[in-house]
Amino acid sequence: MGDTIFGKIIRREIPADIVYENDDVLAFRDLNPQAPVHVLFVPKRALATLNDATPADAELIGNLVLAAADYAKREGFDKEGYRTVINCNEHGGQTVFHLHVHLLAGRRMHWPPG
Ligand code: IMP
Repeated sequence: MGDTIFGKIIRREIPADIVYENDDVLAFRDLNPQAPVHVLFVPKRALATLNDATPADAELIGNLVLAAADYAKREGFDKEGYRTVINCNEHGGQTVFHLHVHLLAGRRMHWPPG
């Protein structure tokens, strides 16, 4: 896959408001937040989309989702709840082709999403 803006953030080539990091995952605030809290969880080893994940990536995907849940607990979003989203390709609304999980919190979410 080609490099994306998220690769540049991971390599600290461009700034981001980083809120969480572990060996496998970096998380930073979304530039265009859709909720009072909107954080993007990005694996340091990039896949373009969820379509590109194979069984060999199970640990990567697991670590990504667990990082979001860990952060949500640390910040106390777990009690009232929150939403995690992975957009995939055009109909899913994906705009950055480096797999990522959105964490949205701080307000009641609507269903179905738009
Ligand atoms: P997607 O639409 O699921 O691919 O999500 C991409 C997200 O990245 C969007 O919510 C954008 O607002 C966000 N975004 C794009 N560029 C940056 C950036 O440089 N820093 C933080 N968030 C970004």
